Amino acid sequence: MNDGLKGKVALVTGAGKKNGIGFGIAEKLASLGVHVVISDLVVSPQEDQPITYGSMEEMQQIAGELQASYGVQVLSVALDVTSTPSIDGAMTHINRTFGGLDFLFNNAGTVFGAPQPVHRYDEASWIRTFDVNLHGVFRVSKAAVVLMTDRPGAAIVNIASKAGKSPAPLNGAYAASKAGVIMVTKVMALELGSQNIRVNAVCPGLIKTDLQEGNIALKAYLWEVDADEAEKRMTDAVPLGRMGEINEVADLCVYLVSGNASYMTGQAINIGGGLLTEA
Ligand code: NAD
Repeated sequence: MNDGLKGKVALVTGAGKKNGIGFGIAEKLASLGVHVVISDLVVSPQEDQPITYGSMEEMQQIAGELQASYGVQVLSVALDVTSTPSIDGAMTHINRTFGGLDFLFNNAGTVFGAPQPVHRYDEASWIRTFDVNLHGVFRVSKAAVVLMTDRPGAAIVNIASKAGKSPAPLNGAYAASKAGVIMVTKVMALELGSQNIRVNAVCPGLIKTDLQEGNIALKAYLWEVDADEAEKRMTDAVPLGRMGEINEVADLCVYLVSGNASYMTGQAINIGGGLLTEA
């Protein structure tokens, strides 16, 4: 399984910290002999900042560790998916280093704003959420496809969400932006099929990451219970009775770019322990 990946080049967005799906994908790829570009929005940690971002220091440390462990080339670049100049700068760097790109994982994602019904959602937070989750996928894909033409087996994987298929009350900006990611995936799959670039999405349910810790805290607040009780209620709703692990999502993502998935494109695959059973 996953044969033929050795020597390929992959870019993973939002991969700058260890407790995230992006790093899980990067590590899995490196273990299979893929040269990896780890990228993230690089911002200094601030007190009271509800969202955690990767830092340049952590990215460089991660890159060094992966390179030492797996003997592949690992590049760490600052890449803000909301900024075209930042994306273009990263692509120039990637092109100079590797001469092209085989795989893109659009993993960067977040949510801004307090949980509110759509009719009360803060407008600026709504727009910022879309700017990262949906417009970020558009911007990075647009720049990356230029580097992916004439690369046999090229593929894109977009990290959407269960929330992009199943309505999530009080989380409308996140849910609607992820629904957009699923549609962009399908449109791009049709458009890029003739260039043999496959485009698929994955739709995780509840996965143990920093983002999920924030979600648990939010549920605890909304349900007026402690975090352990909130997590228990959330996992009780999962048919497999637990949250997913980062490596389980990474396995699916890497499968989708491998030759084993060579006839799959335009799909949005659920990975949620049975939380969502509809396609
Ligand atoms: P995470 O918060 O650990 O990782 C998200 C990463 O995106 C961070 O490293 C962050 O720095 C980066 N990011 C945010 N804004 C950015 C920007 N403007 N430019 C570049 N990078 C930016 O969360 P995660 O759980 O690992 O999430 C990874 C992806 O999986 C996200 O798209 C998320 O929506 C999706 N997802 C996660 C879950 C889950 O249960 N954890 C479920 C469904 C979907």
